Amino acid sequence: MRPPILFPLFAEVATLKGVGPRVLPLVQKVAGPLVRDLVFLAPAGLIVRRAMQAATATEGEVGVFQVTIDRLFPPGRPGAPLKVRAADETGFVHLVWFGGSPQHIDRLLPRGKTRLVSGKVERFNGEVQIVHPDIVAVDKADDLAMSEPVYPATQGLTARQVRKLVQAALPAAPDLAEWQDPAWLAKQKWPGWRAALEALHSPSTEAELAPDAPVRQRLAYDEFLAHQLALARRRRAREIKPAPVIAPGAASDHLLAALPFALTNAQAQAVAEIRRDLASGKQMGRLLQGDVGSGKTAVAALALADAAASGFQSALMAPTEILARQHFEKLGPLLEAAGVPSVLLTGRDTNGQRREKLAALASGAAPVAIGTHALFQDAVRFDRLALAVIDEQHRFGVGERQRLQAKGDPRLGAVHLLTMSATPIPRTLELTQYGELEVSRLTEKPPGRTPVTTAVLPLTRIGEVAARLKAAVESGAQAYWICPLVAESEAVDLAAAVDRADDLRRLLGVEVGLAHGQMPGAEREAVMADFADGRLPVLVATTVVEVGVDVPNASIMVIEHADRFGLAQLHQLRGRVGRGAKASACILLYGGQDGALGETAKERLETLRRTEDGFVIAEEDFRLRGGGDPLGLKQSGFPAYRFADPIRQRALMLAAADDARLVMNRDPDLASPRGQAIRVLEELFDWKAHKAGSD
Ligand code: ADP
Ligand code: MG
Repeated sequence: MRPPILFPLFAEVATLKGVGPRVLPLVQKVAGPLVRDLVFLAPAGLIVRRAMQAATATEGEVGVFQVTIDRLFPPGRPGAPLKVRAADETGFVHLVWFGGSPQHIDRLLPRGKTRLVSGKVERFNGEVQIVHPDIVAVDKADDLAMSEPVYPATQGLTARQVRKLVQAALPAAPDLAEWQDPAWLAKQKWPGWRAALEALHSPSTEAELAPDAPVRQRLAYDEFLAHQLALARRRRAREIKPAPVIAPGAASDHLLAALPFALTNAQAQAVAEIRRDLASGKQMGRLLQGDVGSGKTAVAALALADAAASGFQSALMAPTEILARQHFEKLGPLLEAAGVPSVLLTGRDTNGQRREKLAALASGAAPVAIGTHALFQDAVRFDRLALAVIDEQHRFGVGERQRLQAKGDPRLGAVHLLTMSATPIPRTLELTQYGELEVSRLTEKPPGRTPVTTAVLPLTRIGEVAARLKAAVESGAQAYWICPLVAESEAVDLAAAVDRADDLRRLLGVEVGLAHGQMPGAEREAVMADFADGRLPVLVATTVVEVGVDVPNASIMVIEHADRFGLAQLHQLRGRVGRGAKASACILLYGGQDGALGETAKERLETLRRTEDGFVIAEEDFRLRGGGDPLGLKQSGFPAYRFADPIRQRALMLAAADDARLVMNRDPDLASPRGQAIRVLEELFDWKAHKAGSD
């Protein structure tokens, strides 16, 4: 509940003096509906005024002139400007208005009177001219600040009016008990909250507006902390839900023994983290992040075996038929060897097969179900479902994951959730998108992998690429050739892909498959399957090639118009080669026939040439794209922060996340004095009302 001390901040902006029916919608647009929103409206710029004299005024700067009004010239004809001539001891200052009212200006600037005027200095015929002076005042005490924050404005509401409203709103901000850790605050040398707000709205230098200014940092940290606390609370709500206790047993050992390899350290670490959750008696919610090929399946398989060893059922859900089938073909025999029968459930089963499988799941005879969307259909019942594993989790909606989880027996407790993602994302993004999940990262690739040699070439060298491809295909290699969506219309893109497939068929003299987004799903999967089984040496595809499909014999990846892709996406595509023993290559073709490429674009592609570490690439991609552009931030999945910039204030965000975690562990009910203060912080930012990206 909102504490009364915050009531003035949460009053409607309409309660402020000066906000009448005309201005109200404009204020709401610029700031928001509440007084708090004005208080939280950070200035975007600063006007610094210098006292000047006409003779020596600097063009382009904002000057303040003390002048005597000489004469008003009304507009000579409609549309012409109104001018006032004024002067100081050193020369004339001409004031110019377009569309100003002569009566009003005459009243403001009576002939013979002294006035202070301010505005950007221009020179016209050698004399100072100010178009639309930003201030006209009688004397300095009146209204003339030598520096003045500039606020976002809108048609009908000037930045100066907004500033007045902010000043009117500011007294509504009360003194509040400090919610930041005292030691941390002292170390940062940040001001208190109230003082920070005052300072936010009265900057005197540009440096005070920068993301690393103490005041800005303090307020950003507060915002990060409030958000991370909201996420930590959600995590906690899950962590107190009773769930089946799952512990490794004989089946787990057998499965481990049946694996044709030893786990990497990263895999072993992830397995340990998952086991700790599963044995806790509380619901697990964990995201397993790892590049394509990092070995997530084996980690998941151990969780499935653990569940079976503890007498429970589990389900592994994949977004496509082909992925589900691959999982089943790989894991089925391993699980079988561990004494754990599994069934594959997809949309393809005949009625008879389906009935049999459903019966095995309902009776508990099959401890493991592997499948597609077919798994969460109503007809599917489990006897003792305790664990849901979701592969390529972003391909499923929350509702779909929940429908699967809802198939548990409430008497056993909540169903544990393990989601897997092959799209490494920056740590900061992970915090906002998956803040309510625990995260395990596979940062290390299984051994014996051949690194992928990456080349960046202009499209003009496509002939050479085709010739080398021909030689490779003749010696048994398989290749992907990606034609991205680049044109305005899908039809044009599709035509380009069809043409490319024709070219290659002719040039290489082999069969070339084509997979694209407008094909019926079954047809596309059939082509993919032909490629996977080695019947097709070359596959031309738009970006629809399924991410998780494993074709170890494919060792060449050609990507046309690579400059049009995000780095993360290119990395994903590249991840489909280098999976077998063969030396693999990725060729990034950029540009059109002119072969031109900008500097940033080059830098981006260079990153890919330098590293194969998906986490490094994700951070780099983010840095190159981010650049503090708010629209970009939104598109990258960040919430709309008021003060905080997750790119430029990355370290603060990470610190706030740790802080939130610590608070929730030490003082989950927020009962301590700091906890009490934190409750007020949470109300202040109101993150509870927001939905996180992952739900
Ligand atoms: P992901 O699902 O993370 O993309 P997979 O689980 O499909 O990756 O694993 C990719 C390949 O690596 C598979 O062929 C798998 O058998 C193999 N693999 C997984 N873990 C190891 C390991 N520890 N040592 C060697 N090979 C491994
Ligand atoms: Mg996988």
